[in-house]
Amino acid sequence: NQPLSALDPDIATVLEGELDRQRETLEMIASENFVPRAVLQAQGSVLTNKYAEGYPGRRYYGGCEQVDIAENLAIERAKALFGAGYANVQPHSGATANAAVLHALASPGDTVLGLSLAHGGHLTHGMKINFSGKLYDVAAYEVDPQSHRIEMDAVRERALASRPKVIIAGWSAYPRQLDFAAFREIADEVGAYLWTDMAHFAGLVAAGLHPSPVPHSDVVSSTIHKTLGGPRSGLILAHDAETFGKRLNSAVFPGQQGGPLMHVIAAKAVALKIAAGEEFADRQRRTLEGARIIADRLMQADVREAGISVLTGGTDVHLALVDLRDSALDGQQAEDLLHEAGITVNRNAVPFDPRPPRVTSGLRIGTPALATRGFAAAEFTEVADIIATTLVAGTGTDIEAVRARVRALTDGFPLYPGLQQ
Ligand code: PLP
Repeated sequence: NQPLSALDPDIATVLEGELDRQRETLEMIASENFVPRAVLQAQGSVLTNKYAEGYPGRRYYGGCEQVDIAENLAIERAKALFGAGYANVQPHSGATANAAVLHALASPGDTVLGLSLAHGGHLTHGMKINFSGKLYDVAAYEVDPQSHRIEMDAVRERALASRPKVIIAGWSAYPRQLDFAAFREIADEVGAYLWTDMAHFAGLVAAGLHPSPVPHSDVVSSTIHKTLGGPRSGLILAHDAETFGKRLNSAVFPGQQGGPLMHVIAAKAVALKIAAGEEFADRQRRTLEGARIIADRLMQADVREAGISVLTGGTDVHLALVDLRDSALDGQQAEDLLHEAGITVNRNAVPFDPRPPRVTSGLRIGTPALATRGFAAAEFTEVADIIATTLVAGTGTDIEAVRARVRALTDGFPLYPGLQQ
């Protein structure tokens, strides 16, 4: 029962170093967030010791009376938060949730139609060497070459041509809202299931700041750790429990997973409780405001003159996509430069990107973590200016000066005050 620092100083040093990194930098990876202390506590608890294959009240192991309570709370909170008739909180991650959804809705060899990975889709929506691309016959829709938006006429055309069993709505890198009613109409026209993967924008949906896909979709999947701000894990919802509940449950267990991670499920319950509150809604409002401020700043003349633009001319979600195709920097160089300055973002392919996926010509910049840290309009205005001036100056950036501006922001909003790893 030695403390970690005595038992394994190497790992203890990693935990301390990571806490310092998170405290001292501006975290702007669009899929990341900072979980509340209560989530850390639940996830770091003795529930990690428990095997609980099966579902509450129908387990294959004894001693599940406490974890049943946690899982039932997580299920009921997820259903209430999103107005769904069915919820499964067992998926270990977004990717395993998605594997289970496809397992439930399609058979190997069936056609599935999703947004192309190169245009902002996710690996599990049909990437060639992902299970989804290997098991299913993949058709893809793309964004419009001019507007960079998903145009529903083009989606309909692809659906009519490919006659998919499943149509996938949802994305990993796209700055606009989707028209779920139009997706539903197309799915009905071609006789397909509609599955929406709201991993990125679930927090906005929970706060009522983004249309909900739940009433329109047969099945909705999500992660809990992006805008929702909970533990790293997945979730599956359906509005119609009768039709899809049994199929989805058996696709997750035993179809996809063995024992659920009960410590993570308890942490999920905590996060879902928080997501129903007013403080969470305020955080999501600041998340959206921050993304708009960043997009607006990156469309001003000095940035435009450096050959940098914002895809679709703005954002209505928690991220902005920066197009560097006409700038002096590629995605890798821009990511490295901002990293040196103390800002963490990820490079991202832009649609029709001439550079390979390891380099790319774009950046994805997200605001959920900084909104959780407490940032509002004033701080996001400063962050936006730091990013803009750094990208414009490129390799000529005065890194020390930029770091000082970053430090002023991080010092003003201490992260996990009092926490020691
Ligand atoms: N779905 C979408 C749309 C995502 O963006 C992601 C993660 O980036 C996932 C699923 C997968 O989530 P995880 O990384 O938890 O497997």
